[in-house]
Amino acid sequence: MWTRFGRVLQLHGCKMLGFAFIAFLGCVEFVSAASNSTVILICLDGFRWDYMGKADTPNLDFIAKTGVHAPYVKNVFPTVTMPNLYTIVTGLYPESHGIIANEMFDPVFRATFNSSNTETRWWDGGEPVWVTNQKHGFKSGTSFWPGFDVAIRGYFPSFSTNGTEYSKPFASKASRMPVKERIDTVIKWLTTDEPPTFVAIYFLQPYTVGHEYGPDSSEIEAAIKHFDKNITGYLLDQLRRVELLDEVNVIVTADHGMAAYNTSNFINFDGIVNASTYEVFAGNKAFFTIQPHPGNESYVYDSLKEAARKTELFEVYKKKDVPHDLHFKNNRRIGSIVGLLKEGWYRRSSKLPEGNYSYGIIRGEHGYSNTIKDMYPFFIARGPAFKQNFTTQPFEIIDIYPLICHILGIEPAPNNGSLARVEGLLKDKTASTNAPTVNTTKKQRSGNKIVKIVGFAILGFAGLVSLVASILLIIRWCKRQNRPKKLTRENEEDDDPPANTVNAYHADDLVVNQEEPVENNDETVALRCQEIEV
Ligand SMILES: [Zn+2]
Repeated sequence: MWTRFGRVLQLHGCKMLGFAFIAFLGCVEFVSAASNSTVILICLDGFRWDYMGKADTPNLDFIAKTGVHAPYVKNVFPTVTMPNLYTIVTGLYPESHGIIANEMFDPVFRATFNSSNTETRWWDGGEPVWVTNQKHGFKSGTSFWPGFDVAIRGYFPSFSTNGTEYSKPFASKASRMPVKERIDTVIKWLTTDEPPTFVAIYFLQPYTVGHEYGPDSSEIEAAIKHFDKNITGYLLDQLRRVELLDEVNVIVTADHGMAAYNTSNFINFDGIVNASTYEVFAGNKAFFTIQPHPGNESYVYDSLKEAARKTELFEVYKKKDVPHDLHFKNNRRIGSIVGLLKEGWYRRSSKLPEGNYSYGIIRGEHGYSNTIKDMYPFFIARGPAFKQNFTTQPFEIIDIYPLICHILGIEPAPNNGSLARVEGLLKDKTASTNAPTVNTTKKQRSGNKIVKIVGFAILGFAGLVSLVASILLIIRWCKRQNRPKKLTRENEEDDDPPANTVNAYHADDLVVNQEEPVENNDETVALRCQEIEV
C-alpha cells in the first residue's frame, strides 16, 4: 500500500509540489529584494578620466584607496551630457533610450527636446535605476540628475529636488542650488524614517571650466581642487557625521571627458554645403546629424563626403553606414547623415549658435567619437559592496546600471550593459543577496522588515496550499482504493503525464538576455523637413 501511495504522491503530488516550488521561488525572489544596501551615485560633469592626476584631490583619493578605481570608463556616442547621463542610469545606448543628444528634433513629435524638458514621452524609452528600485518596493532620491522632475514609466522619484526654489541643473549659477545645500538635502533624505536605498546626485562642474579654459589649463586644476573639497569632501564629512560613511556605497563618475582645441581650428560648413538644403536634427561643435530636404539628399551627402575626403578633418556617414560600435543609427531622432569631427577641430555653421570665436584661444570641447580617450570619464567607488584599494580593468558606462542593480539586489530592466565586466569590483559577487546586515541602519531595517514580513506571509500561504492539496490527494487515493481495479498500470500512468513533463521549465525561459538592445525605433515616418523648426 505505501509503495502505491508513494507512487500516487509522486504522480499527482508533483503538480502541487511544482506549484509550491514556483510559489517558493517567487517568495525567495521577493524576500531577496529586501536588500540592505544603499547606493549614492554622483556625477561630476565633464570630469575626464585623468583629472584626478592634475590636482590635489585628497577626498577623491580617499574613495579610491578605500575602494575601487577604474583607469577610465568608455562612454557612449555622442560623448555629450544628456545621452551619457541617461545611459549611466538605464544601461542603454542612446539609440535605445532615445535621448540621443542634449537638443534633438523628433520627426514624429514634430518638436525639439532640450535638457529642461519634462514631458514623459521623451524619457520613456529607458527605465532609470531609481524607477527600477521603486518598482521593487524601495525608495529612491534624485538631486538634479536629468529626469529627476519627470514621470518615467509612471514613477516620480520618492525624494527629489523637484519643486525646490532651484528647479533646474543647467540654469544660471544664481539659479542653481548651492552644492552644499544639495548634499545637505540628500543627507536629510538618508536620515528619514524610510530612507532611499538609491540616490543620484548631479553636479554641473567642472564642465563649464573645462569648456571655457580647456582640460589642460591652470583653471581646471583649481576647479578640480575646489570641487574635491567642496563636493566630495563635504559629502564624506556629512556621511561621517551621520554615521553612514561605512554603511553606504558611494560611486563617483562622470558623463564624458574634454578635449582641447584651438579656436583657429575650425571648418566652415556653410562653405561646403548650402545651409538651406538641410535641417539639423542634433549636434554640437564636434558631431552632427542632419536631414537633407527632399531632393537634396545626394547633393548634401556628396558635398560633405568630398570635403571630408579632401580635408581629413571629419568623417561623414549615411545613417545606415554609421560604424556599429557607435550604436548610433537605430532611432528616428538621428537624421539620414551623421558626421564626426576630428579631435581638436570644430565646426562652424550658420545653424549653430554663435560662440566666442576669437582666434588663437584654447578651449575645451566634447562630443567627439567615443573611441577617443580624451572623451572618457573617470570612475571611483567605495562602500561595503566594493573591494578596497583595487584597480579594475576599464569597462563601459553601460555597465554601471547592472552594477548598481546588483548591489541593490534588484532585477535590472533589459539593458545593454554587462555585469560580468564589472563584478570584479565587488567584494562579494553575490552581494545582492548577502548585503551586510550589521551595517544596516535602524531605519532601513525597519523598512525592510515590512517587505520580509509580506514575503514570509506569502511563503506561509504557499505552504498551506501545498498541505491542503496533499490531504485532498490522500482522500482521493483512498476513495480509489475502494473502487474495482480495472485499470492497467499503463492506463494509470496515462491519467497524468510523466512528472518530468508537467510544469517543466525550460532553462531558456528564465534567461534574461541583457545583451540585446532595446529599440524604440520608427524608421517608417515620412519626414517633412521643410516644416521643421530647429
Ligand atoms: Zn556633460
